[in-house]
Amino acid sequence: MTTIRLHNTKTRKREDFAPIDPQNVRLYLCGPTVYDRAHIGNLRPSLVFDVLFRLLREVYGKDHVTYVRNFTDVDDKINARAAESGRAIGDITAETIQWYHDDLDAVGLLRPTHEPRATDHIAQMIAMIETLIDKDHAYAAEGHVLFAVDSYADYGALSGRSVDDMIAGARVEVAPYKRNPMDFVLWKPSGDGVPGWDSPWGYGRPGWHIECSAMSLELLGESFDIHGGGNDLQFPHHENEIAQSACAHPTGEFARYWLHNEMLQVEGKKMSKSLGNFFTIRDLLDQGVPGEVIRMVMLGTHYGKTMDWTEAEGTLRKWYGILHGHGFGPDLIAALKADGKWVPDAEFIGVLANDLNTSGALSRLHVLAKGKTPVALAGFAHGLDMLGLVSDWAAIPQFDGGEAGADIAPAIAERVDALLAERAAARAAKDWGRADQVRDILTDAGVQVTDVGGQATWTAGPEFDAAKLEGL
Ligand code: AMP
Ligand code: ZN
Repeated sequence: MTTIRLHNTKTRKREDFAPIDPQNVRLYLCGPTVYDRAHIGNLRPSLVFDVLFRLLREVYGKDHVTYVRNFTDVDDKINARAAESGRAIGDITAETIQWYHDDLDAVGLLRPTHEPRATDHIAQMIAMIETLIDKDHAYAAEGHVLFAVDSYADYGALSGRSVDDMIAGARVEVAPYKRNPMDFVLWKPSGDGVPGWDSPWGYGRPGWHIECSAMSLELLGESFDIHGGGNDLQFPHHENEIAQSACAHPTGEFARYWLHNEMLQVEGKKMSKSLGNFFTIRDLLDQGVPGEVIRMVMLGTHYGKTMDWTEAEGTLRKWYGILHGHGFGPDLIAALKADGKWVPDAEFIGVLANDLNTSGALSRLHVLAKGKTPVALAGFAHGLDMLGLVSDWAAIPQFDGGEAGADIAPAIAERVDALLAERAAARAAKDWGRADQVRDILTDAGVQVTDVGGQATWTAGPEFDAAKLEGL
């Protein structure tokens, strides 16, 4: 079995991954706060976990991985959006969740096993807060409940910082009801026009961090395998999750491995809503950038490195051309499966399993793409499938832009284009005989034609023979 290695933030080392239960490998990713379109930086953690999910399913079996990604649907940013737009909170969150699904579907992300919403788990959060108060890790004061960081000796262990360092580095909200300025909110009072629930501490709403502790407990148990998010969440969000879960359920270990992605940047600065230097997934899709290109660009940089946005469309166009050229589709894949040839390339899987080395895996695909027959290309196609770069084998994307014949002498490419124009003219004139003649010439020369939306594109297939087009 492939050994997966992961850089574990907790130990700051790359470690062999050993699941708690190989029959049920469990992951938790902190998901989006739903008040606006996701930008391309927000996509990164979900995409990294999508690749991790796919890899784990490949290694441990499709039905042996449970992946949870939450929706934060109670938050002051959502309340502010509702107040400024005059819209109902429920409408905003429902619409944003729909957008999130649409955008991520377009980039080929698999849906997680569970997508819990914070507002569906208020009772579990209240129960966990009560446990923390009972165990003297939290206290109620002026309608708030606060976690007492002094009650948890390991506070700060994930990011390796002392409490003093954290106070110095963080924007800590000082409040009269806090025993220590680092104490963080588990519950706070809600006034008019703000969502709230009845609780032992009055009408109010949860602080942000408690939802992930409560929902991971509910869906994954006291101990699970991998927890992730962007590295901007390490402190305070993940430190606080650990403190809550470890203190409420000291018999569990919470998350064994922590995976953090580095930031997507624009001109050296983190892409973020507050800096205004962002563009959304939808912006790119609307500009005609295919979801696969977005995916390809993102996978080109290891998740542990910062990345700037660059262009990878050319590679993908070439790769799809190869798949079209060798007749890849559901039938060919079924035939490869029947022959036992639809298996991952060992080196590809090995590279990917080494801390999700997606850029290394793409380099391996460049090598595998040189295969000359469908069987020799099976590992290449399987790798594209595994990385989610082909989501539907019945409809392998075909980009327009006319670079299909890039490796072919311009004079020959011009001849093919001229023949296609002639075929189109013959069809328009209902001269079916001539249209078929032209088609036969192209087929005989090994040119593969795909008609997409009334527009013909072509690639040089495996039997391509330029000589058959010369002297026509
Ligand atoms: P938010 O909706 O702001 O809570 O963010 C959702 C996820 O996106 C979190 O895991 C963040 O760490 C992550 N994230 C936000 N900005 C970026 C960025 N520029 N690059 C990578 N990840 C980001
Ligand atoms: Zn979280």
